[in-house]
Amino acid sequence: MSTFTKTLLAAALGFSMITAAQALPSVKILATGGTIAGTAASATQMTGYKAGDLGIQVLINAVPQMKDFADVSGEQIVKISSNNMTDSVLLKLAQRCNELLADPKVNGIVITHGTDTLEETAFFLNLTVKSKKPVVLVGAMRPATAISADGPLNLLNAVKLAADPQAVGKGVMIAMNDTINGARDTTKTNTTNVGTFRSPDAGPLGVIAAGKNIFLHEPARRHTFESQFDVSKLDALPRVDIGYSHANGDRVAIDAFVKAGAQGIVWAGTGNGSIHENEEVGAVDAIKKGVVFVRSSRVGSGVTTLSLQRWADEGMLQSGALNPQKARILLQLALTQTKDPAEIQKIFDEY
Ligand code: ASP
Repeated sequence: MSTFTKTLLAAALGFSMITAAQALPSVKILATGGTIAGTAASATQMTGYKAGDLGIQVLINAVPQMKDFADVSGEQIVKISSNNMTDSVLLKLAQRCNELLADPKVNGIVITHGTDTLEETAFFLNLTVKSKKPVVLVGAMRPATAISADGPLNLLNAVKLAADPQAVGKGVMIAMNDTINGARDTTKTNTTNVGTFRSPDAGPLGVIAAGKNIFLHEPARRHTFESQFDVSKLDALPRVDIGYSHANGDRVAIDAFVKAGAQGIVWAGTGNGSIHENEEVGAVDAIKKGVVFVRSSRVGSGVTTLSLQRWADEGMLQSGALNPQKARILLQLALTQTKDPAEIQKIFDEY
């Protein structure tokens, strides 16, 4: 494609920043594996495939259309199925994003990622990336070898979003299934469907239609360039565990978490973060030992509020609209700065 055609195309798509004299925006793709890089034995195999099998260059070569919108280059960070995500990979990703984004020649970053823990990585980066430049996570629900694989179009859309000046300052985003979701509010809601990512309380930040990014909302909470968290010198994060409330619950898991050295526990309570009385006695003992205990909810949407005054008096905090896995990430980061429960509640109210 000639530069002139590229300019016309870019103008039609609203990339007003690009002129004939300027180069295309530079987008780095950091690859971590997942189904988007997954391979199966046949085109109809949609489960039980090998996630993270293909390297980043194979994914880039499969979507040559990206080159019409951005100067794209890839870097393989890890090759994992994201159910195996670790704190050390999260730290590596945050540190690499910050290094790359400090380079004036880099306009944005795309991270290819498995969908299982994508929401956790996105939220972690939303709190630790120190830049207004777009960072977009992308995955797929069908492996690269599948009939109607969703990865290639998702990747193209992610690169276009990372190169789009409209996306600057919006925090970390997820581009999948023609939808732009914000890192804080999004969760995986379906085990196999391509429309799995939803933001149950906030709604999506925008949609992708006719090849254009159409923003509908702004993220409401502090993120990226406004965040107080700095992981540049960390090589580990505080241990925070998640427990799950259920009928006939007891304190066994809480005691085990404390014994394992948890500095924090997030409780996926029933309803509005309710806790079984047999679990509660364990929580009270954990709090007395200095463990920070945050009530969240197993429900899947809604805000976990202050509920029984007794739970607050016992020292339990509440997660607000963060689900347990997001609350765990925020609590880990909060614990890198303070152990004071009142300060940590303030952090939950702000982020
Ligand atoms: N298990 C896969 C992963 O999270 C699933 C996916 O990518 O959709 O890596």
